[in-house]
Amino acid sequence: MAKEHNSKWYAAGLAFQCQQSGNCCSGEPGHVWVTKKEIANIAEYLGIEGEWLPKKYLRRVGFRYSLTEHADGDCVFLERSKDGCASCRIHKVKPTQCRTWPFWSSNLKSPEHWNEAAQGCPGINRGPTHTLVQIDEIRLMKAPS
Ligand code: SF4
Repeated sequence: MAKEHNSKWYAAGLAFQCQQSGNCCSGEPGHVWVTKKEIANIAEYLGIEGEWLPKKYLRRVGFRYSLTEHADGDCVFLERSKDGCASCRIHKVKPTQCRTWPFWSSNLKSPEHWNEAAQGCPGINRGPTHTLVQIDEIRLMKAPS
């Protein structure tokens, strides 16, 4: 295990600090995957009865569920203040997919993948360094089901 860790290109850690750009919550149509447990948590947080979300927030994609987005690509829960700062209306219960950004396996494949993600996210390569152990803990986090 230690050997595997040491051989990772990000063994020295990576810097990230959210700059509230909202870029990871907007843009081209995509999916914000949510499990049934996450859906129930969000419904409870919003005070919606029945452990489920209405259609305006949730759509079915094959056998899975995704949060919906506005026509401009913004996630339905993305809010922007007058000065342009983005925030998440359901921050406390946001899905694991959101919670683990930018330490996704797809971004950690190589420095090139990481730097490509950095082009769309001003928080990458800024702020405090996350250690290898912290990064892998986040990367491997499983959504509650
Ligand atoms: S749920 Fe929150 S953090 Fe996740 S994409 Fe939507 S606004 Fe962003």
